[in-house]
Amino acid sequence: MLNIVIFGAPGSGKGTQSELLVEKYGVNHISTGDVLRAEIKNATSLGKVAQGYIEQGQLIPDDLMIDILASVLDGFKESKGVIFDGFPRTIAQAEALKKMLNGRGQEVTLMLDLEVPEDVLMDRLIKRGQQTGRADDNEETIKKRLHVYHTQTAPLIDWYKQEGKHHHIEGFGELEKIFGDICEAIEKKK
Ligand code: AMP
Repeated sequence: MLNIVIFGAPGSGKGTQSELLVEKYGVNHISTGDVLRAEIKNATSLGKVAQGYIEQGQLIPDDLMIDILASVLDGFKESKGVIFDGFPRTIAQAEALKKMLNGRGQEVTLMLDLEVPEDVLMDRLIKRGQQTGRADDNEETIKKRLHVYHTQTAPLIDWYKQEGKHHHIEGFGELEKIFGDICEAIEKKK
């Protein structure tokens, strides 16, 4: 079972690398951001709650997010493993994930920490906003999201170091080189 937390600031390339990993390892992929955007698109009650937080660049409350993750995870039958993309984003979420996986006799195999310089993140997200029209990819909201990343999410780096799961990946450069580094880290842990 290959359970990978793909971690990094907004714009660090988690989604792109996740797609490549799904193709190579045949694992499932949960992007909590994609789950929430689909709920918003379908105008569900969850979508209505999530929209306010996302537009403000804030995190959805932990309890809600943990319930969503548990129900997506329950839907994966006979899975080879899961790429967790955009989850956990807080220590409470990381603890909940650990508990959830332990309850299934599993654990996080490794956490890949994609590190990208701040000015590059900003450029990438602004470009993505222009190309996709994603509502939270505008300069003001990006700044808020980066602040939330540094204050609420980055502490997970030390948390996963203590768990012995953290693996640093240089996330700036050629896509293939980054993917190669990721695969090398996975092969060592498998
Ligand atoms: P993403 O596509 O991963 O950048 O997520 C977009 C937005 O969805 C974030 O800025 C948060 O508002 C919300 N979100 C996604 N994942 C989570 C999470 N694990 N916890 C709380 N909020 C989340």
